[in-house]
Amino acid sequence: MIARRKTRTVQVGSVRLGSKHPIVIQSMTKVFTTRVAACVQQIVRLQEAGCGLVRLAVPTRNDTRAFARIVQQVSIPLVADIHFSAERAIEAIEAGAAKIRLNPGNIKDRRDILRIIDCAKRHGIAIRIGVNEASIRDLKSGDTAMDRRVRLMRTEMTRYVRLFEKAGFDNLVLSAKSADTVRTIEINRLLAKDFEYPLHLGLTHAGLPEDAAVPSAVTLGALLAEGIGDTIRVSAAGDPVEEVKIARQILLSLGLQEPTGPQLIVCPTCGRCRINVVALARKVKKELTHLNRPIRVAVMGCVVNGPGEAADADIAVCAAEGKGFLYRQGVRTAIVPAERLLEALRDELRRCR
Ligand code: SF4
Repeated sequence: MIARRKTRTVQVGSVRLGSKHPIVIQSMTKVFTTRVAACVQQIVRLQEAGCGLVRLAVPTRNDTRAFARIVQQVSIPLVADIHFSAERAIEAIEAGAAKIRLNPGNIKDRRDILRIIDCAKRHGIAIRIGVNEASIRDLKSGDTAMDRRVRLMRTEMTRYVRLFEKAGFDNLVLSAKSADTVRTIEINRLLAKDFEYPLHLGLTHAGLPEDAAVPSAVTLGALLAEGIGDTIRVSAAGDPVEEVKIARQILLSLGLQEPTGPQLIVCPTCGRCRINVVALARKVKKELTHLNRPIRVAVMGCVVNGPGEAADADIAVCAAEGKGFLYRQGVRTAIVPAERLLEALRDELRRCR
C-alpha cells in the first residue's frame, strides 16, 4: 500500500481532490471548443474510459460561449484552460467551469489575478495554478541547468500561491510541468514539501500515445510511488481516450486504482516455453474484451512460474509438453491437451460469469 502525502481536500464540482480521495484521471478535449457536439461526444467517451475531469481550451470569447453550452450537456465537471486573458477566466467561471487553470507565466498583472480570485470566490470554484517550464520567461535560451530551471518554477509557484493566500483564496490545486522527466519529478517533490494543496501531475508533452507511455509512467509512477499526486494527466498527441488508458495503467500497476475490467498476465516466454504462449494470449485477450468486470487471467509457458502466478489469478493456464494445467483460484482443476487450451479457458471464463 502506498501512503499518500497528506493534503487538504479541494472540491471541483462533484469531484474531490486530495489525499482522502481516489486519484482522479484528467484529460483534455482535442477539438475546437466551438464544435460543441464534437466536444460533448469526446467528453462522454473520456468519462466512459475512466476520466474524472475534462479540461477545455477557451482562447476566444466564442469558446467561452461554447463552453457554457457544453457544461449544460455533460455530467462531468469541466475545467477551463486559461492563458493570457483574465477576461476568458471570468467568462469561463461565469459559464459554469468547476475549476479553471491559470498559467503564472502569462497572467501576471496583480489586478487581473485579484479580479479572477474575486469571481472564483463568488462562484465557489477551484483554481489550478499550473506552472509550465516552457512559459517561464526568465529562462535564458540554452539554459539547461537543472537546478536553475527547477528553482525558477518553484519561485514562480510560491509567488503566485502567496498572492492567492493573501487574497483569502485557498481552493487551490498546484501543478508544475516540464517535458523533462527528471525535472518534473524534482519540482513536484519540492512542491509536495512546500504546500499542502493537492498536486496535479503530468509532463507538458510526452509524444504520440505509443511514445508517451514510458516517460509518463516513469515520471508519474516515481512520484505516485512516493505518495505524491492527487490527480494525473498523461499528455499524449492524438485521441484523448488513449491518455486515459495509459493513466489507468499507471494507477493500476501501482495498486492506486481498483481494476474494473479484466487483467491478463502473460509470461514473457523463454527457451523453456512449451506452447505458443503469445498466440494463445492474443486469443485469450480477445475473449476478455467482452468482459467488463475485474478478473485476473494468467497464461504461463511452463511450470517455473506458472503455479505461483496461478495462485494470484482467478483463472490460469500453465503449459507443459503437449498439454496445459488449468487452475481456478489457484487450484488445479484439469489437464488439457495443448490444442484444447483455448476452448478450456473459454469454458472457465463462462463459469466465472
Ligand atoms: S513461465 Fe516458464 S516459459 Fe514463461 S518465461 Fe517463465 S520460465 Fe520461461
